[in-house]
Amino acid sequence: MHPLDSDDPLSAYRDRFVESPGVVAYLDGNSLGRPLTASADRIARFATDEWASQLIRGWDAGWLDLPLTIGDELGQVALGAAAGQATIGDSTTVLVYKLVRAAVSAAGDRHELVIDRDNFPTDRYVLEGIAAECGLTLRWIGAGDVSPGQVAEIVGPKTALVVLSTVSYRSGFLADVPAITKVVHDAGALILWDLCHSAGVVPTALDDWDVDLAVGCSYKYLNGGPGAPAFAYVRRDLQSTLRQPIQGWLGSRAPFEMGQGYEPAEGIRGFLSGTPPIIGMLALQPAIALIDEVGLPAIRAKSVALTEYAIALADDRLPHVSLSSPRNADRRGSHITLDHPRFESLLPGLWETGVIPDFRRPTGIRLGLSPLSTSFAEVELGVNSIAEALAR
Ligand SMILES: *Cc1c(COP(=O)(O)O)cnc(C)c1O
Repeated sequence: MHPLDSDDPLSAYRDRFVESPGVVAYLDGNSLGRPLTASADRIARFATDEWASQLIRGWDAGWLDLPLTIGDELGQVALGAAAGQATIGDSTTVLVYKLVRAAVSAAGDRHELVIDRDNFPTDRYVLEGIAAECGLTLRWIGAGDVSPGQVAEIVGPKTALVVLSTVSYRSGFLADVPAITKVVHDAGALILWDLCHSAGVVPTALDDWDVDLAVGCSYKYLNGGPGAPAFAYVRRDLQSTLRQPIQGWLGSRAPFEMGQGYEPAEGIRGFLSGTPPIIGMLALQPAIALIDEVGLPAIRAKSVALTEYAIALADDRLPHVSLSSPRNADRRGSHITLDHPRFESLLPGLWETGVIPDFRRPTGIRLGLSPLSTSFAEVELGVNSIAEALAR
């Protein structure tokens, strides 16, 4: 065993995941987390034990509440959110739309949205669409890591909402969430944080940080599976003033009265739209339970150790490769990005040998290190494989 794995208090948790034949170094847990055995069992059993046996009665027996039940579990374990403020459903993209649109409608004559050039494309595209739809001005923070000072320069009395990612999908930069949130509030605006690359791996305190709105996907470090529904957080005191735009029956006050005229349900339920994707959210529950069992501080400690190790190896063995991620662990999420002009052509060869990082144009290889399922041996094998491929 790799000495760092022998010393790792979390190493045994790797056995909780389903094996992936032929994969020798999975370094893409930040794009799609691996399945837990408990999740695979849960999905398999659901069809027979719940769907087939309960049929339509299942909705009353708990399915209808599942988005809020799992939302509360996620909130407590991973988001620092008291019950009644988080829900599961829709994709991150759709939830960004719903929450931004809701914030814009409540913003009075504030008609500017703020986002950064390096934010994930879907967040930028959705904001561009809403700006066009509602006649708003989009103000851009330039490419690069976003500091509280940059945000302070761009927000003002016209700002309705600022949309930023906690961890940059490209560089892995971890933003100063509480400081930026305060800057935005001092300008009288709201903030929406995209937690896709931090949920389940970076300790988070949405309530204590006074965050207004948040979204995130559940298939990265939350191991919910491909296309698993995303989560939304709406701070309790905003729930009655914000109104989301997709007024579906399951977000209405009394769906089964099937009456005339939409009236939103009270609380976080009003942010639902259609029938919840039950099968899609099943894998999330065992994953949240595991995060609860291990605890986010221990997960974060291993995350930092993994990225430190990856950076040390890259410094040592990849001399012509540049590190595009912060060296300061306090400002880094759980992945690092390395850049080299030849990386795009190397990737297929790496994947063929079972070494699986991912590639981001123009020249970046990302190593996503998921603390519960990634070993130090995998990190070493991954960096060595990149070094060998570059030498060829
Ligand atoms: C992965 C990711 C998304 C994905 O959005 P989907 O609607 O699930 O495709 C959105 N934003 C960020 C920051 C991401 O990292």
